[in-house]
Amino acid sequence: MQILVATNNARKCAELQALLVPLGHDVSTPAEVGGVPPVVEDRPTFAGNAVKKAVSAARARRTWALADDSGLEVDHLGGAPGVRSARFAGDDGDAERNNDALLAALSGVPPERRGARFVCVLVLARPDGTVAGEFTGVAHGRILEARRGKSGFGYDPLFLFTETGFAATGRSFAELSRAEKSAVSHRGRALRALADRLPALLSAAGPAPV
Ligand code: IMP
Repeated sequence: MQILVATNNARKCAELQALLVPLGHDVSTPAEVGGVPPVVEDRPTFAGNAVKKAVSAARARRTWALADDSGLEVDHLGGAPGVRSARFAGDDGDAERNNDALLAALSGVPPERRGARFVCVLVLARPDGTVAGEFTGVAHGRILEARRGKSGFGYDPLFLFTETGFAATGRSFAELSRAEKSAVSHRGRALRALADRLPALLSAAGPAPV
């Protein structure tokens, strides 16, 4: 099946391709097919933004489309930065400044009150623009008081993975290899939930026309 991955982020495309191609799907990107209008990510939830991106791309190209939205929710900040994670410290989306802003916002907050989670929502839209499925992955941890590790991107150096029973427990996401992170990350979890359901979703008929 031909699936349009509705993102211009090369890293996300690569992750989605790595999952979908072995399942026999043909993955294309907006840059390859053209005619996919940019979408303003202005919804208050990850799911809202992911639905908007997937539906817009599916309608524009009349094809199956997959989109995601993700970010960091910090308990002490009432769930912020949330959908504003990429732009927490300003519209340039600079990760170093975002991490500095997060440390400043949590200055003096003790470890037990620095709980946080990464969230990823993946949405698959049908060629007619209806939503076929929505998959959420969450990874629980807490925000460190200083950066640890060199891998990954974004808030990874400040995110200590705290779920018990995993090899990655007690390390920051930036201290994990790509495979270790994918095994426990919000995105890896959402992707595996999607992979489990994908064959059934692609073969099922869409909703009856009204
Ligand atoms: P988006 O899904 O591309 O809109 O990403 C939103 C923002 O959330 C990113 O720019 C990062 O700041 C943050 N983020 C999402 N996933 C991760 C992750 O796996 N590690 C670190 N930061 C992340």
